[in-house]
Amino acid sequence: MLCLDAKPNKAHLKLAELERAGKLTAVITQNIDGLHTAAGSKTVYELHGSVHRNYCLKCGKSYSAEDILKSEGVPHCECGGIIKPDVVLYGENLDDRTVTGALSAIERCDTLIIGGTSLTVYPAAGFIRYFNGNNLVLINMSSTPYDNKADLVIHDKVGEVLDKIKVN
Ligand SMILES: [Zn+2]
Repeated sequence: MLCLDAKPNKAHLKLAELERAGKLTAVITQNIDGLHTAAGSKTVYELHGSVHRNYCLKCGKSYSAEDILKSEGVPHCECGGIIKPDVVLYGENLDDRTVTGALSAIERCDTLIIGGTSLTVYPAAGFIRYFNGNNLVLINMSSTPYDNKADLVIHDKVGEVLDKIKVN
């Protein structure tokens, strides 16, 4: 169930703060809630899309998530076309440009912080292989298959951990 009233949490806000301070290049997420953008992050690769972007399959007109919730049944555009959310449904391919952007950010970065994932869901888990930098940091409640490859492993809630970072 989608909750449009969800607000960015401490992790979303801290990542946006780090980007504003020039210490963070990009955020890559599998979530479709759009909360990183809502928190103020500018460079966000939403691998599975966002429920806040919807478009008509016929004419391409954009619709907000509110527009979709207002409609009954399958939402239709004023032109008669079906409105589809810009999210990747099971069995669909990820968007090429988003994947390319995300992989290029990972390849170029010196420090990669991965938080809140057990790293068992592909394809995102496979993205780690593109990292050539110096510091791999994993923040997750439980252990992951990559814990032994990381330079720093923190088993805790990602929001609590990121919240402790002081940005100068
Ligand atoms: Zn249309």
